[in-house]
Amino acid sequence: MIPYGRQNIDQKDIDAVIDVLKSDFLTQGPVVPKFEQAVADYCGAQYGVAVNSATSALHLACLALGVGKGDIVWTSPISFVASANCALYCGANIDFIDVDPLTGNLSVDELSHKLKITPEKLLPKVIVVIHMAGNPCDVKSIAKLTQTYNIKIIEDASHALGAEYQIYKVGCCAHSDITVFSFHPVKIITTGEGGMALTNDLMLSERMKTYASHGITKDSTLMEMKAPWYYEQQSIGYNYRMSEIHAALGFSQMNRLDIFIQKRRRIADYYNKNLCTEKFEIVKQDEFGRSSYHLYMILVKNDKRRPLYEKMKANGVGVQVHYIPIHLQPFYRSLGFNLGDFPNSEEYYKDILTIPIHPALEVEQVNYIIGTLNEY
Ligand SMILES: *Cc1c(COP(=O)(O)O)cnc(C)c1O
Repeated sequence: MIPYGRQNIDQKDIDAVIDVLKSDFLTQGPVVPKFEQAVADYCGAQYGVAVNSATSALHLACLALGVGKGDIVWTSPISFVASANCALYCGANIDFIDVDPLTGNLSVDELSHKLKITPEKLLPKVIVVIHMAGNPCDVKSIAKLTQTYNIKIIEDASHALGAEYQIYKVGCCAHSDITVFSFHPVKIITTGEGGMALTNDLMLSERMKTYASHGITKDSTLMEMKAPWYYEQQSIGYNYRMSEIHAALGFSQMNRLDIFIQKRRRIADYYNKNLCTEKFEIVKQDEFGRSSYHLYMILVKNDKRRPLYEKMKANGVGVQVHYIPIHLQPFYRSLGFNLGDFPNSEEYYKDILTIPIHPALEVEQVNYIIGTLNEY
């Protein structure tokens, strides 16, 4: 089976992990800060907080922005469930903004409309925006709308390390408060499991670090008592830390990030040129961004998606569907959401199909995938 995505590990990655295993520190050593700095520098952000998953990073981002009981968070239904779950972890309520059915990204028009019709006490504290498949959503326009309401923005950029929005790298937080990346093996670079939050706000980064480590501070200027062995827990926190072993893999992978993106873009171009567009619609890319192509997606109309899915699987091609709209998950239905609530998302879900894209795909494999699709 040709997987829709997979990690790309070379000997240098392996050596980097082995070096850590032979060193003094398996956790809380020098490699995690090096990795944080490398990702922050690449994206043009000030501070990085490495953690054990993007899910944890999303939780920390909500906590740092003060999301709590009684607050409301908005996100869009076309994402992995973690984009919405993070609000519920904090005791907040979740609501959704519908997507552009051609891209799966949050629709700026829908947001604008929803902000206008929502009574003030039901406005969100935070909006989590997703760069679907690595195609940047229009964060600047979104921020323009939310500023007047003092709504904070978290970018769930789990798909979008290496993507560009206008003149910016996704992650620089020019139009958001915090950006989150995932390093799960199918994502752009991997640490096995892992994630990172980037921000330009020192206070937010300090808060996220504290929440990621039990709510404990060792900064004596922040403590009531002073003693060399002393530490203080000042809030409830978690253990979301990334280990040195994971960070070593991530730091080593950063060396090939640009090559990974180049390869993904080259494969996407090839698909664009060679897929039969009479049979499939290719998911639209907005002109203000440049995708990292975490996923390559086509729209298969007229209820032909399911038979095509089955045919591709039978022919050894690991197609997938990203995503089942979050509001249709049984858990979210139990919170009161229903079929019909977000029609664009449901429409997008009906036709969408992810076909393989990752840096190690060979030309013959890509040709085989195109041939199998086109003969359908
Ligand atoms: C993968 C993913 C996550 C979760 O990432 P983990 O590192 O596995 O916790 C969150 N949001 C989106 C959009 C993702 O694709």
